[in-house]
Amino acid sequence: MNEDLDKFSEITDNYKKISSKIQADVELVAVSKTHPVEMIQHIYDQGQRVFGENKVQELVEKQLLLPKDIRWHLIGHLQTNKVKYIASFIDTIQSVDSEKLLEEIDKQAEKNNRKIKVLLQVKIAEEETKFGLEIHEAKEIFQEYLNGKFPNIEVKGLMGMATLTEDKNQVKKEFTLLKQIFDKLSLQRKLDILSMGMSDDFPVAIECGANSVRVGSAIFGHRNYNL
Ligand SMILES: *Cc1c(COP(=O)(O)O)cnc(C)c1O
Repeated sequence: MNEDLDKFSEITDNYKKISSKIQADVELVAVSKTHPVEMIQHIYDQGQRVFGENKVQELVEKQLLLPKDIRWHLIGHLQTNKVKYIASFIDTIQSVDSEKLLEEIDKQAEKNNRKIKVLLQVKIAEEETKFGLEIHEAKEIFQEYLNGKFPNIEVKGLMGMATLTEDKNQVKKEFTLLKQIFDKLSLQRKLDILSMGMSDDFPVAIECGANSVRVGSAIFGHRNYNL
């Protein structure tokens, strides 16, 4: 019990500290993956409404137990056969990494009589990453979207992850690249959301033009993958 109270006051402090570092026009997505619903509820009680999860099953279980006005973002790789489990409630799918996935989201959105917001996840990291669209793929998919191919989807913007490195210049270079792509696509149709930056690099990301950041461990502490 005491341990829980300590934990609550610790994450409250973390949350206040992070919030104070993020200006009002930047959206904070609190990444709650692996953390229990009590912790999420506690941060919710501090006023946070946008949370990010990376696994469908975990997200579905938590969504059932937590307030309905939470805006859930999926931020991890999504298998097409799992879109149906989240289509009725998901606010934004940040991790669109294939056209096939977009087609399925479009289909499930229609079935649920709603539009689903998405971000195209673009590979910007120098390191080999498994998921994300190549830049040219993102441009092509955006073009098809503009041509009306996905009527039940709203492409709100782009998401990217920088290389995991201490080299700030490398990280800056990658974030700046995504900002340039964002600006370029915005000339065709204005995009709203540029999601980049996590616990370790969100200040750099904001400097480079991010208006949405995904912060997990800096709020909730280290993740316990054995939960
Ligand atoms: C886990 C995760 C985050 C948050 O990472 P932290 O370093 O804990 O802030 C952000 N984005 C994605 C895509 C993630 O999977």
